[in-house]
Amino acid sequence: MEESLSQLIDKFYTLKERYDASRQTKISKIISNKELSNREKRLKVTKMDKVPCVGCRRAVGSVFSVTRNGAARTFIAKCGDASSPCPLDIQFIVADRINYARAIAGGQSDINDIKTRIIIGKNNMLFDYSPDANATEWFSDLSEQLEETAQATGKIVESNIMINDNPENIAELETFKKYFVDEVLWGYNNMIEKYKQDVAVGETSSDNVPKTLAQYYIDDIAMWARDINNLEYPEMFVEHHNNRYILIQQQNPETNYFFNASDDKIITNTEGARPKPKSRTLSAAKKTPKNTTLKASK
Ligand SMILES: [Zn+2]
Repeated sequence: MEESLSQLIDKFYTLKERYDASRQTKISKIISNKELSNREKRLKVTKMDKVPCVGCRRAVGSVFSVTRNGAARTFIAKCGDASSPCPLDIQFIVADRINYARAIAGGQSDINDIKTRIIIGKNNMLFDYSPDANATEWFSDLSEQLEETAQATGKIVESNIMINDNPENIAELETFKKYFVDEVLWGYNNMIEKYKQDVAVGETSSDNVPKTLAQYYIDDIAMWARDINNLEYPEMFVEHHNNRYILIQQQNPETNYFFNASDDKIITNTEGARPKPKSRTLSAAKKTPKNTTLKASK
């Protein structure tokens, strides 16, 4: 099964946490060794043997990096052995998530800013406060900027409306609500009226509520009310605050309030094979730091 981006992010951080933890354990062991001086501890940490790679378990370490480029972050997890790396190779790009409301407010503020600059420039030209030979060029530059900003903001507004205030969804909800009032509730009220009339003319008694009435409530009214509520608030959950339970109803899932600044991309997703470490490699790895530290501390 192909992993989704969020699963990949989880995997990246799970591996990184495991790696950092084993590195931290190694460092703690050196730091807490009371027989070493501070200088020896420092040297031992700097010359410390690499932590096993999360892919191949060889003592070559792993590389975990998150770098920002523009509106995205690149995640890389790979083997620490640059010359003959194991297959561990996870690389993906996560775009920035931008909040619609903030982006629209920002766009509108930019538009107002450019408009103000155009007005000030025009006044300066009209009243000759600051004669500018490049006035025409400058003016067309600003006009172009204004058009571009207005267009970009317009697109964000449009996409926000389609996702968060989709006219079709709203129309559908209205249709259901109307049907609920005009047909479902009307039918129920009619049945009650008929029942009251029957009681009045003595055809039934008031303690003999027809089963159909109760059943109609369960089958139709309650079901319709629930469906309409679900349609109106796709996100409903209960939060517990200060011994109180609060029902949160959101018209849209949280993720709908954000859009991607660029495209997410999974470049590679290969986890390293994990051969059992050869005993020879292990003993060699254990000897190396001891010797170096002895030499270094002399
Ligand atoms: Zn490796």
